[in-house]
Amino acid sequence: MLNVESIDSGTVIDHIRAGKGKRVLELLKIGDGFESRVALVMNVPSKKLGKKDIVKIEGFNVTETQANLIALIAPNSSINIIKNKEVANKYTVSPPKELKGVGICGNPSCITNVEYSEKYFKAEGEDAYRCAYCERVFKPEELVR
Ligand SMILES: [Zn+2]
Repeated sequence: MLNVESIDSGTVIDHIRAGKGKRVLELLKIGDGFESRVALVMNVPSKKLGKKDIVKIEGFNVTETQANLIALIAPNSSINIIKNKEVANKYTVSPPKELKGVGICGNPSCITNVEYSEKYFKAEGEDAYRCAYCERVFKPEELVR
């Protein structure tokens, strides 16, 4: 197995569905300008998922809002906050029942895309969200760009 150096402090996101690790980094706006160490390990064998991606970001703590967005792309991934080489906080993200102020409606003529208004989506079953304004239903991933 590919060995990746552990980090002193920062965030490790594990159990990301294979292929979604890059999207998670994009979502966190971690790209070319980011100066700390970042590791993206793809297609790691996993008992639970078959294959998974792992992301390690030094000197960066994921916020609750970001965790909610990660849940849309990589439900049931686990987020570990590392402090002084130890896991200070660990939680599993699950898709929220409602999204307030986050997410982008996929309907270009929806009022939330045309003029400013608070974005609001409600979960509809396991794998979909309904926009409270235009009432269209989207897959969780479609709300994140
Ligand atoms: Zn809408």
